[in-house]
Amino acid sequence: MNSGEILGRWTPAKSEELYNIKNWSGGYFSVSEDGYMVVNPAPGKDDNGVKLIDIINGVAERGLDVPVLLRFENILDAQIALLNKTFAEAMKKLGYAGKYRGVYPVKVNQQQQVLEEVARFGQKYHHGFEVGSKAELIAALAEIRDREACLICNGYKDEEFINLGLFANKMGFQCFFVIEMPGELGIIIDRAKKMKVKPNIGIRIKLSSVAGGHWAESSGDRSIFGLNITQITEVIDQLKANDMLDCLKLLHYHIGSQVPNIHDIRAAIFEASRVYAELVKEGAPMGYMDIGGGLAVDYDGSHTNYGSSRNYSVDEYCTDIVEAVMSTLDENDVPHPIIITESGRWVVAYYSVLIFNVLDTMKFESYEIPESIEPDTFEAIANLFETNKTVSPKNIQECYNDALYYRDQIRAAFKHGQIGLRELSLAEKLFWNTINKIADTKKRMRISPGELELIERAVNDIYYCNFSLFQSIPDSWAIDHLFPIVPIQKLDVMPRRNAVIADITCDCDGKIDQFIDLHDIRRSLPIHEIVEGEDYYVGVFLVGAYQETLGDLHNLFGDTNVVSVKITEDGDFDLTRETHGDTVADVLSYVEFSPAELIRQFREAAEMAVKEGRISPAERREIMQSYQNGLNGYTYYEK
Ligand SMILES: *Cc1c(COP(=O)(O)O)cnc(C)c1O
Repeated sequence: MNSGEILGRWTPAKSEELYNIKNWSGGYFSVSEDGYMVVNPAPGKDDNGVKLIDIINGVAERGLDVPVLLRFENILDAQIALLNKTFAEAMKKLGYAGKYRGVYPVKVNQQQQVLEEVARFGQKYHHGFEVGSKAELIAALAEIRDREACLICNGYKDEEFINLGLFANKMGFQCFFVIEMPGELGIIIDRAKKMKVKPNIGIRIKLSSVAGGHWAESSGDRSIFGLNITQITEVIDQLKANDMLDCLKLLHYHIGSQVPNIHDIRAAIFEASRVYAELVKEGAPMGYMDIGGGLAVDYDGSHTNYGSSRNYSVDEYCTDIVEAVMSTLDENDVPHPIIITESGRWVVAYYSVLIFNVLDTMKFESYEIPESIEPDTFEAIANLFETNKTVSPKNIQECYNDALYYRDQIRAAFKHGQIGLRELSLAEKLFWNTINKIADTKKRMRISPGELELIERAVNDIYYCNFSLFQSIPDSWAIDHLFPIVPIQKLDVMPRRNAVIADITCDCDGKIDQFIDLHDIRRSLPIHEIVEGEDYYVGVFLVGAYQETLGDLHNLFGDTNVVSVKITEDGDFDLTRETHGDTVADVLSYVEFSPAELIRQFREAAEMAVKEGRISPAERREIMQSYQNGLNGYTYYEK
């Protein structure tokens, strides 16, 4: 029995602690008194929270099945407000003479809704956009209305890209071209002269400061982006030669996404501020310092400099940035610039939640084994039986090694035809019984041999869930990114199972076996026993950044259903947008099948079967109907 149970009933508060919810949720998610996961649009004011299960049920009644991605408009709005307010407060407190202007980097989540919300809701803060390609610029130009908001153009820019940006300038928008490659400047100068517009020019610098975390290579001397100091002086000379140094207004850098250590963020600012001061000395008007993205999300809630976390709060982030820019520039007698940040991950991560159901489970439970075995039993099986009998705290490492050794022998014997199916089945039961005995014994020991760490993983359940890892949480597969995962119901009941999550792609990589933990990485997720016939849902949280468009069509599982939700003042919710996920016909057409042609070909085969007398014409009709239904259906498991 778990100590929680001895001390009293399991409570929602215990679930909140077990899944570490308070530490990663940013206050947007919590557990209700009756054990349901709740979304709170205004952290701190818990009274109008909505249960995720109510939204899922409401969505299902309207015909949209799980897996479904829920997007909460309120959260996106709240994050933009929080970032702008925190910077404004830090500037006020420190007496900073410049301003803050946020820009949203489109690549982090390019959904039209996100851009629309940033433009609409961000207007009162003049929150703008950062684009890295022509397509992103074209999208941003359609959404932006605010002439005080910045439009930062990074990425490689061809003539078409530059023309569009210059037209935007002509229309009164604050469009900046950030020079990433020396070659770009010539085209900008040329086009600007022809179009008679004064461009706003920025320079992206390559810093020597290196940031930790997964994206460390975005920074340092070998970074593939940005100009080195010599290239910067060449840009200045080229601008001077064209009498355009007055166009140089912005300094930019980006040291990588999800920077977990505030120390790296500060080091980069000090270095960049020095360069900024030197550009002013060279005679450039400047006025803008753009420090890129990097504001991290505390996915595991550990508040450390571990890759899925961050060792600073948003408050500290803003204060440290303002302080570092200020102190360096004051020393150099340079006026305070407008500080721009390009936070994407932190702005959108909280706003989406993926919800799927559990389809089936597999347990590696102790099988019943016989009291004794036949004297003529195959030797390795008899040895395994003996091992099973002798498991004790003193010899568990030895028993574990023996069990593995005999199992290998037995498998080899089966391959060579020395034993049959029934004997192999007996051996399998003996093996799992032994492993469970060892796991139980280990749990009761205070110290256990290091190698046995693996044993708990061997007895974890597998919960098969209705989603595709590759489509919906690709970073979990590609870079072992951790996301908080929590069942959305029954949180007033103790979760008695420990499971790894398998998706339905049937790919051996399509599983999640690393979970957030305050001190380490968990190898299994505490989860409830599934009751036959009940719907049991699991939520993957903080998936709003990067996951949606990086996903792919592995095994032809397509886009999930997506529903945008607005939590209303009275604690109810509106479904503001619904997007049906891909149908089978949709995903097949992505790989060049034509649905009409598929039907024609299959009908031919069915007609042939009629001709051969295998099926009746009426059966052909039925078969064609189910083929059609299949084409029109959802790519995921339907109830
Ligand atoms: C990806 C990227 C960002 C976004 O960074 P986050 O850490 O997600 O906020 C900002 N600026 C540039 C140039 C980028 O490439």
